[in-house]
Amino acid sequence: RVAIVLFTADLRLHDNPVLRAALSAAESVVPLFVVDSGVRDAGFTTPNRAAFLSECLADLDRGLRARGGHLVIREGDVVREACRVAAETDAAEVHLAGGSSGYAQRREDRLRSALAADGRRLRVHDAVVTALPPGAVLPSGRSHFAVFTPYYRRWSAERLRPVTGAPRRVAVPTVSTLPLPAAASLAPGTASPALARGGESEGRRRLAAWLRSGVDAYAVRHDDMAADATSRLSPYLHFGCLSPVEVIDRARRRPGGAEAFVRQLAWRDFHHQVLAAVPGAAARDYRTRHDRWRTDPEELAAWKAGVTGFPVVDAAMRQLAHEGWMHNRARMLVASFLTKTLYHDWREGARHFTDLLIDADVANNQLNWQWMAGTGTDTRPHRVLNPLVQARRFDPEGEYVRRWVPELAGVAGGAVHQPWRLEAVRRERLGYPGPLVGLPDALARFRRARGLT
Ligand code: FAD
Repeated sequence: RVAIVLFTADLRLHDNPVLRAALSAAESVVPLFVVDSGVRDAGFTTPNRAAFLSECLADLDRGLRARGGHLVIREGDVVREACRVAAETDAAEVHLAGGSSGYAQRREDRLRSALAADGRRLRVHDAVVTALPPGAVLPSGRSHFAVFTPYYRRWSAERLRPVTGAPRRVAVPTVSTLPLPAAASLAPGTASPALARGGESEGRRRLAAWLRSGVDAYAVRHDDMAADATSRLSPYLHFGCLSPVEVIDRARRRPGGAEAFVRQLAWRDFHHQVLAAVPGAAARDYRTRHDRWRTDPEELAAWKAGVTGFPVVDAAMRQLAHEGWMHNRARMLVASFLTKTLYHDWREGARHFTDLLIDADVANNQLNWQWMAGTGTDTRPHRVLNPLVQARRFDPEGEYVRRWVPELAGVAGGAVHQPWRLEAVRRERLGYPGPLVGLPDALARFRRARGLT
């Protein structure tokens, strides 16, 4: 008997219920990854994500080879390719991780009916991509939690499934495969210069280091942008190189239970359960009836390039371009700056994040953007993050700004946050732009647009 494991957002051998179930259902297993034309057509195969993905696949293949097997690569429409491999190997079952996006749900439905037409079965496994499956906890009479705090209360009280190790052996039947895809064949274009390395091995190494020497200080240091004191595990969680169940389980074993860190992982599940219940939430428009987002291509370009004249905003945008990753506090303040201070459509910002972030996903990117823009779930729609106040609180010495904005490297201390206050001669020599907008005017514009004045 043969079973297929169709890898999607679960590119790992450890704690993978999909792989485990397939191995216990059949003597041999086809570990299949399809370079899916649908994902590419949806604009998700960017150079940064392609670079990370190709490393994930190479690492997964190495892990499988060490266990007597190998990864099977196909390319094209995921449903057609999976059915083709099932026919070639006469597999009775295809095993797949449940996903929350509209795309994942359609993929699942299409695959189920295409397999059934051939007398084969799709088996979907939960708690692979998220710690708790969407819908595992629900408010009475509703399809999902719309507010985080009550969700978190219920989420925390649930027992997670037990963590499992990696299999010892994976026997793969004879089946043809394409070569492992190089980044350039997945997406043309240049990746950011300082991307994290992809793959389960690297993810596990980082997780072990984080649990050893980072997580205990998370509660007090996570918002300090210069300290860089968050886990940076998001790309590994996104591609499934790490299991959220295992990350939470191991974090909870720390003295004190690493509650602040675990809470962030609950945010991840929270957005997934909103999206699973309301797939259209990813594309929701602004919610007030009378306001209209502003359109100003030059302003948008300045935001993207990190030349707005607000040093903390520019530092964050340049970190994104350089690393394909950005600190959470920085994501919040640049999103607020774009959608509230400049009053641009959040979807422009979300698109730019998707173009560059390794960890960009529909649930966390689109819904966090809406949370910041005041158009989404559990939101304080009228809260505006003043970039200057944020900078003083979360980068008091200006270290984060000097790291990313070399024009300002010679400006000492917190003065770096307001270069417009420097003497004119010195300011001119910096070669750094003046502020794109006046903050009081921008705030007044925002309040008018939202009908608050
Ligand atoms: P840590 O602080 O170490 O947190 C641990 C893990 O918890 C993260 O790896 C992540 O999986 C999860 N997490 C933390 N904060 C959040 C949050 N607010 N929402 C959901 N999950 C969270 N996260 C993504 O994974 N993908 C995205 O596309 C994404 N887009 C964002 C867009 C905006 C505008 C904002 C404000 C936030 C976004 N986030 C996104 C959430 C958060 O910024 C990142 O998960 C976090 O910065 C990743 O860094 P870390 O791994 O060091 O996080």
